[in-house]
Amino acid sequence: MLAAYITHADCTRHEMGAHHPECPERLSAIGDRLLIKGLLDHMIRHDAPLATEEQLARAHSALYVREIISSSPAEGHRQVDPDTRMNPFTVTAALRAAGAAVRATDLVIAGEAPTAFCCVRPPGHHAEHAAAMGFCFFNNVAVGIRHALDVHGLQRVALIDFDVHHGNGSEDIFRGDDRVLMCSIYERGLYPFSGEDAVGPNMVNVGLNARSGSDAFRDAVLTHWLPALDAFAPQLIYVSAGFDAHRDDDMGNLGLVDADYEWVTQQVMKVAQRHCNGRVISCLEGGYVLSPLARSACAHVKVLIGAD
Ligand SMILES: [Zn+2]
Repeated sequence: MLAAYITHADCTRHEMGAHHPECPERLSAIGDRLLIKGLLDHMIRHDAPLATEEQLARAHSALYVREIISSSPAEGHRQVDPDTRMNPFTVTAALRAAGAAVRATDLVIAGEAPTAFCCVRPPGHHAEHAAAMGFCFFNNVAVGIRHALDVHGLQRVALIDFDVHHGNGSEDIFRGDDRVLMCSIYERGLYPFSGEDAVGPNMVNVGLNARSGSDAFRDAVLTHWLPALDAFAPQLIYVSAGFDAHRDDDMGNLGLVDADYEWVTQQVMKVAQRHCNGRVISCLEGGYVLSPLARSACAHVKVLIGAD
């Protein structure tokens, strides 16, 4: 049984202007690297479907979903927040990105794929219940998780977020939802300046200072994430896979290297093997310098599909 690789060409038609870091080339950089390294030979490619408004409304307010879909510009760009804008193809790309998480959920829960990687954009973890921000429109991973909980009837799902930025959107959606345990590590003092407040027992947020480096990152995983994950015993694990904590990515300053992404994925897979038959669904979030992004994503996927 092969892992699922879920993507769509429509995700490359959304762009936010020349020199914007969240650019279409991010997806081809990852896809090319996975191909060259032979990892796509171990995966089955699926086209991401369009998420339905009903699926999106499990993570967002129905009114917000309608607002985003109906505010698609006919031409040019429409500014949504200071660094987030829509072009005429954004809505379709955002629906595909969220739809990928839904498809991944269906495949993995049905036992048709052991794990899945959603190579999609726009990313999602900054999108709140009723707000687009930080390059994000719909919270892809949250839409997938609510699909697993509300449609498939799972009772405990974990969300791992190692993007350098705190996943404020995921926290906003899942705070108070005891069916979800969110474990994040992010850089303090960085956009969106959240994560420092205790918002409930289902949020394990670990803020690290700039230039903390690999040892501090790994120590946080071992000390804070793994005990919480083992106590929670998830039935399925999702990953908000952002690669912008890499030392060659100028979006953050944590100073991680390719091997850290391999290592953290190994830790997640071990938890998944202990509790949920190895079931892990990963969705791309950040990562903006193409070479380290592609290398780090490749290191992550290699472990995710058991090719390490
Ligand atoms: Zn990020």
